[in-house]
Amino acid sequence: MHQVRLAGLTVDTRHAIGGERVASTGTFESVSPIDGAVLAHIARGGAVEVDAAVQAARAAFPAWRDLGPRGRGELLHRLADLVEANLEPLATLETLDNGSLLRSHRRGVMPRVAMNIRFFADWAVDRLRHEVWQTRGHDNTISWDPSGVAALITPWNAPLMLATWKIGPALAAGDTVVLKPAEWTPLTASVFADLANEAGIPPGVVNVVQGFGAEAGAALVAHPGIARISFTGSVPTAKAIARAAAENLTPVSFELGGKSPLIVTDDADLELAVELAIEQYDNAGQVCLSGTRLLVHEAVAESFAARFAEKAAAIVQGDPRDEATQIGPQIHRIHLDRIAGFVERATAAGARVVVGGGPNEQLGGLYYRPTLLADARPGSEILTTEVFGPVLTMQTFAGDEEAVELANGTEYGLAAVVVCGDRERARALTKNLVAGTIWVNCFFVRDLAAPFGGSKKSGIGREGGTWSFDFYADVKNTVYAPTGWKD
Ligand code: NAD
Repeated sequence: MHQVRLAGLTVDTRHAIGGERVASTGTFESVSPIDGAVLAHIARGGAVEVDAAVQAARAAFPAWRDLGPRGRGELLHRLADLVEANLEPLATLETLDNGSLLRSHRRGVMPRVAMNIRFFADWAVDRLRHEVWQTRGHDNTISWDPSGVAALITPWNAPLMLATWKIGPALAAGDTVVLKPAEWTPLTASVFADLANEAGIPPGVVNVVQGFGAEAGAALVAHPGIARISFTGSVPTAKAIARAAAENLTPVSFELGGKSPLIVTDDADLELAVELAIEQYDNAGQVCLSGTRLLVHEAVAESFAARFAEKAAAIVQGDPRDEATQIGPQIHRIHLDRIAGFVERATAAGARVVVGGGPNEQLGGLYYRPTLLADARPGSEILTTEVFGPVLTMQTFAGDEEAVELANGTEYGLAAVVVCGDRERARALTKNLVAGTIWVNCFFVRDLAAPFGGSKKSGIGREGGTWSFDFYADVKNTVYAPTGWKD
């Protein structure tokens, strides 16, 4: 009754708390965006389950901390092995639950899940050096001490990948975790908890409480027993979490939304520019980093738009399990309606539809056509608010200064893409862009050692490499004097 078979896996619908499965009186449905099928009835947690999970994580913390980076690393590598051994069913399950492309889950996302765990386990052993420098003969000795229980809250657009981007470094740093996955996509997190058990990770080190943001999520971030909050999601939720965190002064790491620019200069390789612009539709536009605002030099705008429209018309939309599909469905009816609302309001206010402009009526369901809008009013909603769907806008600029001004003209600062033919010009452009990550003549090249996060309202803090440990650990400086020793 508490288990369903999906994609060749047994998915337990209960919470994973202290190495046990715990039911709730209420449940919620997990629905597939592919065809609306109800996949499972998931335990709906609240304050009681959250408190049990935090207590279990606190109880497990001292032993996990004392295992040290090598001891933890061995178990974490075993966990990554199990993810790899289950790569195909995990990929299929994630596609059923969130509608993203099966081929990307197989080839990119699930291998990255395993990598998230291995990479930080190894970093803690090999790369997290205790830096030593001297002050008037005294040694400053820096260490990264495990801090306690990390509360992890994640969105639905890349569920297990984003969860392990937090779980990997948190566990490697010696913290224990309570994960609250997004309510629209809870399934792979549940399987992951079983894999952690199977890998021999002690009970209580990895806990998963399922439920809604306002219930389980709110109870978790307000809990006085947690040491860290790492959150990926939207700006309004981040504000609610920041308020709750303020009560206990719990440190937060926020990775939030974006409205990133993609700048095309007049000396850019236009083929490359179009190709990169089309990539912004990946995952049906449900990517925080997407460069959704195309800022194109006026001298090449017409030719760019024509080539873009031709390429966009050839995009294959359909079932995310088909190898040929490039764009699958949106996550949920509520989200599809939100996207449609943005486009309707923009066109009513005078924006011109260059490509798409509405739901894909042929396919029905949750499919929205890849859309490009031009001539939107400066400062209007469609140019300033994150849509999180396959909707791009195009604006033109006359000089690079104007391009930078347009690019920086939102409250966000997550990413930027620059397509440019001249290195010096690209350097000058990127110098003045406000963004956590900038890609020049490329997109989505990610190295787990590099800092990742957003500026302005796109986030607080950076994760990746040692930056992750700076967040999950208590960074400590012990100063040794040259005097006072008996030897
Ligand atoms: P969301 O903010 O609605 O929800 C994210 C998570 O927060 C969910 O698990 C939800 O249950 C939980 N939550 C909601 N209210 C809460 C509360 N009061 N207290 C605690 N938890 C609460 O975001 P979403 O719609 O799931 O995801 C889309 C957003 O995430 C977009 O804005 C996108 O840009 C952003 N995102 C950012 C990154 C990044 O790395 N910067 C990556 C992916 C997605």
